[in-house]
Amino acid sequence: MPARTGQQYVEGLRAQEREIWLGGERVRDVTTHPGLTGGVRAIARLYDMQHDAKLKKVMTYKSPSSGDKVGRSFSNPKTRDELETRTQMMLNWARASCGMMGRSPDFMNVTFAAWGAAADFFGEKRPEFGDNMRRYVEYLRENDIVLTHALINLQKSRNVSGMFNLEEGTALQVIRETSAGIVVRGARILATLGPLADEIAVYSPRLARHSEDHSPFAVSFSIPCGTKGLKFLCRDSFDLGRSHFDQPLGSRFEEMDCIVFFDDVLVPWERVFLLYDVNRLNAVPHVTHSTAHSAHQGAAKNLAKCEFVLGLALLMTQALGNAHLPHTEERIGELMLTTELTRACMRAAEADAELDQWGVMCPAILPAESTRNLFMTAYPRMIEILQLLGSSSFLLTPSEKDFSGPLAPQIEQYLATDSIAAKERVKLFRLAWDVAGNAFGSRQVLYERFFASDPLTRARALAAVYPKGPVMERVSEFLGRSDEEW
Ligand SMILES: Cc1cc2nc3c(=O)[nH]c(=O)nc-3n(C[C@H](O)[C@H](O)[C@H](O)COP(=O)(O)OP(=O)(O)OC[C@H]3O[C@@H](n4cnc5c(N)ncnc54)[C@H](O)[C@@H]3O)c2cc1C
Repeated sequence: MPARTGQQYVEGLRAQEREIWLGGERVRDVTTHPGLTGGVRAIARLYDMQHDAKLKKVMTYKSPSSGDKVGRSFSNPKTRDELETRTQMMLNWARASCGMMGRSPDFMNVTFAAWGAAADFFGEKRPEFGDNMRRYVEYLRENDIVLTHALINLQKSRNVSGMFNLEEGTALQVIRETSAGIVVRGARILATLGPLADEIAVYSPRLARHSEDHSPFAVSFSIPCGTKGLKFLCRDSFDLGRSHFDQPLGSRFEEMDCIVFFDDVLVPWERVFLLYDVNRLNAVPHVTHSTAHSAHQGAAKNLAKCEFVLGLALLMTQALGNAHLPHTEERIGELMLTTELTRACMRAAEADAELDQWGVMCPAILPAESTRNLFMTAYPRMIEILQLLGSSSFLLTPSEKDFSGPLAPQIEQYLATDSIAAKERVKLFRLAWDVAGNAFGSRQVLYERFFASDPLTRARALAAVYPKGPVMERVSEFLGRSDEEW
């Protein structure tokens, strides 16, 4: 099947009954639920972009198996040019959501594309798992499936080592095998896009330090969201049901986060990619290079987000007439710096990309991973800057209805600035509030702090791939210089 349209995506969601809970009630149809429909529409729009005459060439490519035009994020680039075209595709999607849908489908697509190319690694000890991966990646690509994922086990207590505390009865584990598959039980977080996805992928992040070689917690699989025993529990929706004027981002880009309960869920054998093999589980992101690909996708999302926040800040200061003040310039300069550092890392990952042992043009790991670590602190700072620039204007934001209410004349008169009419100012600052103030915006900040795991794990992840030898040698060489040497 060629790349899906938005309508086909929506029909796919309707066709699959699933157990989604929101606000104490079971959601019967995610496509029409007021707290979820905005997000469904947003993903549908992304899918429609695959059929836009102007974008199609970038958004799709020719499937290696069917010859159909399929989504480009499923591709395995062979050259730097192909890698950059994939970046353009990801940027198109990220910019369409102002960078606010961090788990747009390309996030998982690039991961599975890498795993498909490296399927032999999954099949090294158990060849059937390699075949499962190959078949599954083809299925994803040819059916343009939307995946959510839940990597993190809930923990009842923390140990000081920073290792995951895997507890029976809480963490997801395999409880038995049957002739049909494995049965899993436990809870996982945090399935962003859960109600809006067709299938859920379950695996564990790098540095998931299980203590044994053979562990019932070491498992990787994918199943349809409607699988029996699978329950998604949503947080409150941050789509307040308001107009696009009143809540421009929340009314459009609510991607939802869920706890996922697995009540003795049967995972068919053909959907199992890894089982009990702790060392392999920990090695997957590195050996397959999926971590470089997903970091690179994240960099595109981060760049789109930086550009949007910077553009917003410039418009805010223009509207308020404070753009020329020195401390405003300093803050705007900081936003520009973060934007350009992000772009530079993304581009460096492409420029230094190399063909890996799986025949895939792999983005350079260091700049790609660096964007993840950078954004954990850079994005909260960007939002702090917006708050400092906007001050009380964030709250001088009457609703759309107020502009036709009895106070409209006062609003029009007193909220105008030298450069902008009252309604334009309010529209702008309601957008700024969605980015930097309300629940939707606060979740974005939390998201970026933990997008790719917690700060300790991120620091360790970067340290694990950083080539420490050359910099230490440089210092050792200096220390070893004789008095005669310069
Ligand atoms: C908005 C949002 C969306 C997300 N979407 C997804 C998703 O789609 N899929 C997915 O799989 N995950 C998702 N995540 C989960 C994310 O990967 C986790 O939040 C992240 O890995 C951190 O895990 P945690 O929340 O359990 O933090 P915790 O482990 O509870 O950590 C909380 C804090 O305590 C510190 N800490 C914890 N344990 C120790 C220790 N032993 N020693 C020292 N410090 C410690 C951490 O560094 C951290 O600062 C999402 C998270 C957010 C916030």
